[in-house]
Amino acid sequence: MSSNPTLTDLFDRTISYLRVSLTDQCNLRCVYCTPSPLSKLEHKELLTYEELLRVIGLAVELGVKKVRLTGGEPLARRNIERFLEGLAKIKGLDDIRLTTNGVFLGKYYQNLLDAGVGKLNISLDTLKPKRFQEITGFDEFEQVWQGIQLALAKGFSSVKVNMVAMRGVNDDEIVDFAKLAMEYPLQMRYIEFMPIGNGGSWGADKLISTGEIKQRIETLGALTPISQKRMDGPARVYELEGALGSIGFISPMSHKFCEKCNRLRLTSEGALRSCLLSDDETDLRAVLRGGGTDDDICNLIIKTIQAKPKGHYLDESPSGCLGKMSRIGG
Ligand code: SAM
Repeated sequence: MSSNPTLTDLFDRTISYLRVSLTDQCNLRCVYCTPSPLSKLEHKELLTYEELLRVIGLAVELGVKKVRLTGGEPLARRNIERFLEGLAKIKGLDDIRLTTNGVFLGKYYQNLLDAGVGKLNISLDTLKPKRFQEITGFDEFEQVWQGIQLALAKGFSSVKVNMVAMRGVNDDEIVDFAKLAMEYPLQMRYIEFMPIGNGGSWGADKLISTGEIKQRIETLGALTPISQKRMDGPARVYELEGALGSIGFISPMSHKFCEKCNRLRLTSEGALRSCLLSDDETDLRAVLRGGGTDDDICNLIIKTIQAKPKGHYLDESPSGCLGKMSRIGG
């Protein structure tokens, strides 16, 4: 394989960002995310750490610059420290990020820092402990809150809190969440609810558009757009008057960002997916376990990118995609 070919798709998008679902398992059971009925991959179906590191290493050789670990809950996978140590050794990979529910941050923050995972997205949909239990099934708000405080105190270069705003579920807390960005140097991110893997809880009536969320936050102060770097991804980021942190919006429903999408995904059982919202997948695991060479794997990565759809069609097909967030990696 020639060194560093550019991973450009048919629509002139350069793919430089790989999102990796380390496991479909999660220690929480968020009602809108957990598959219903609950399913679980067998351990042998998951890519091993060695297989994951091989694919990530090859993707980096091909031109991937940024990797996000997600899931399921990445920190719930056994011996994650071992994987992190391997990840740290991949040459040319300088941007490693993690999306987590934050419950295990107390246990693993040092391993993350040692491995160069400097940027954390912590998912939290409510600031009310009782509601946290209703949404996630567990009384663990305090652990997440401590996780956020640790992330801020221990030198992670970026801390973002992700809230999926759902009408009638947690939309009364939109402004309270924005106050977090007032008080702490973090980015508060509001994500539009998508019709994917929701265990039956999706409903168009629950979707709150970025426009409406923004209006509610503006009761606190003016929002001014911040110019973005390419690696910032699809979020539109704003300064909030008087705030230590910032406000970000991810708006897959109201502002499609497909034309700028630079992402490729590896599911927990080793399927490559060029779009979160399209169920087309390439089975890498079979090639990894069938004696495939590095060139075979690189060719499949390139082929998957060549087949990346121009955009998602959720507006035309509102029932969404069939994939489960936990195995694809949210
Ligand atoms: N366990 C980790 C966590 O909690 O961040 C990573 C996986 S989780 C699937 C990643 C993110 O996807 C979470 O912020 C979750 O709220 C979000 N998510 C799940 N289902 C969603 C949906 N239908 N629409 C929008 N975001 C969703």
